[in-house]
Amino acid sequence: MEDVDVVVVGAGVVGIAVARALALAGREVIVLDAAEGIGTETSSRNSEVIHAGIYYPKGSLMARFCVEGRRMLYRFCDERGVPYSNCGKLIVATSDAETEMLAGIKARAEANGVEGMRFLTAAEAVAMEPNLTCTGALFSPTTGVLDSHAYMLALQGDAEHAGAMFVFHSPVEGGRVTEQGVELAVGGADPMRLRARLVINSAGLHACPLARKIEGMPRQLIPQEYYARGNYFTLTGKSPFTRLIYPVPVPGGLGVHITIDLGGQARFGPDVEWIDHIDYTVDPRRADSFYDAVRRYWPALKDGQIQPGYSGIRPKIVPKGAPAQDFVVQGSAVHGIPHLINLFGIESPGLTSAIALADHVAEIAAA
Ligand SMILES: Cc1cc2nc3c(=O)[nH]c(=O)nc-3n(C[C@H](O)[C@H](O)[C@H](O)COP(=O)(O)OP(=O)(O)OC[C@H]3O[C@@H](n4cnc5c(N)ncnc54)[C@H](O)[C@@H]3O)c2cc1C
Repeated sequence: MEDVDVVVVGAGVVGIAVARALALAGREVIVLDAAEGIGTETSSRNSEVIHAGIYYPKGSLMARFCVEGRRMLYRFCDERGVPYSNCGKLIVATSDAETEMLAGIKARAEANGVEGMRFLTAAEAVAMEPNLTCTGALFSPTTGVLDSHAYMLALQGDAEHAGAMFVFHSPVEGGRVTEQGVELAVGGADPMRLRARLVINSAGLHACPLARKIEGMPRQLIPQEYYARGNYFTLTGKSPFTRLIYPVPVPGGLGVHITIDLGGQARFGPDVEWIDHIDYTVDPRRADSFYDAVRRYWPALKDGQIQPGYSGIRPKIVPKGAPAQDFVVQGSAVHGIPHLINLFGIESPGLTSAIALADHVAEIAAA
């Protein structure tokens, strides 16, 4: 059995950021991932939006890490040459009832420390985005989009430069808590056993099942996993907008919005579809509900203009209909095991929050 200092399970954006933070803090870090490379799951199946931090309840980890993480992320992108666009976003109301909801969204954003939120009349919104139809809007100037893969590569580069090692094709199959650390069984072509002084469970959609496979981890503290697929459809032709356009939020998600990637391609989504196992198939029949949702703020959308794109799955830890979840960062203060930190429910805004979330994990690890 080989002894190591820290094992991070999962090389998604969060695992990579955690490996970077711990390696920069002087820890010896090995990152194990079951896949053939970094970011093959949720970290490459999302909207690539740099969220401002608007919607999350004040005092939640999501609110804190999104706002802090977003500021850190823009600085990081500037320093490392990661491509991004601080394009801004409009949250658009399409009825009087929705216009009234904008005030609540603005107040929540400001309580979270989001800078520069501004009401727009319908005329002001249309002056910014001539193809838009709305009764009023909120402008978020700090929202943006980025190249998520370049971001992960830059984080990985930093981590490796500070001594971290990434090992792929290495599924962690189970573990056992001991006095000295956590013993891990690693499968793949060259199965091995490792004893780590500290294990970070950053396995995304698989974090809850993995925690259940670690003997000694109290079962009652492991949330039940649920999956909410977000389907995307792409637009044929030129994007009608230069900023991101979001409706007012719906339960479980942010509503069918339009985001634009750095290449200028517009995509619609993600919607919210609760499923009972991991499956990324996009059902083309869902296009109907996309047409209805998008035409409320872009009536010029023509039949046949949207095509099934891709999907991502939100790692939910609360069932459909339950109040919104927060990130869960579970260290020894919660489960009493000094050698294990579990990250559960790291859904959106995980990409934006990763650097701040990683610093928080490093603080817990150092305590
Ligand atoms: C539809 C959708 C849209 C989103 N849009 C945005 C957005 O615009 N902006 C934003 O900020 N956030 C967004 N998010 C959230 C963001 O994508 C996630 O929070 C983030 O990518 C989570 O990263 P992660 O590292 O925790 O998980 P993942 O990227 O899923 O990485 C987990 C890794 O663990 C590995 N793994 C799992 N089990 C094991 C095991 N047993 N052994 C070894 N390796 C294992 C997997 O191979 C994988 O590489 C979105 C999420 C979804 C679903």
